[in-house]
Amino acid sequence: MSLDNRPVYAGGCQCGAVRFRIEGALLNASICHCRMCQKAFGNFYAPLATAPDGGLHWTRGEPKRFRSSNHVQRGFCAECGTPLTYEAPDGVALAIGAFDHPEEVAPTIQFGVEGKLPYVDAIAALPARVTEDDLEAAAFLASVESRQHPDHDTAAWPPRHDTAAQPPEEEV
Ligand SMILES: [Zn+2]
Ligand SMILES: [Zn+2]
Repeated sequence: MSLDNRPVYAGGCQCGAVRFRIEGALLNASICHCRMCQKAFGNFYAPLATAPDGGLHWTRGEPKRFRSSNHVQRGFCAECGTPLTYEAPDGVALAIGAFDHPEEVAPTIQFGVEGKLPYVDAIAALPARVTEDDLEAAAFLASVESRQHPDHDTAAWPPRHDTAAQPPEEEV
């Protein structure tokens, strides 16, 4: 929430080259099963939330865009490939998974269900494991050094690791 009680959302791509801020209530949160969205996200469907008019601000960088039809552009990070936007004449929607707190943005409707993949509804019933259950991967997991941007705004990114005298900047 901002000082005037308007909701504020932030997010960005995996590498942190593109960051956004949304001021004001989201207009719509959905998933779209259409084939265009499957391709644009490389996924089973696209989770999207529409920004209020004038409420979207790019706070670091800006997406590169692919015009997927005569009416629509799809925005993505040119550095890391994260899908970020669906930009139509009636507004801009952002990928829910790119929000810093996607758990706050629950979809309320499904679109394009004629394109729904036949196994999507069964996914929730598949066998489920937490990451730590995979004991064979424990050593590998312990050695992972993430280069993913954290789920909050940063003053500078990526952090500098080149000189020991410099304090890390990632948590600024
Ligand atoms: Zn990126
Ligand atoms: Zn779609």
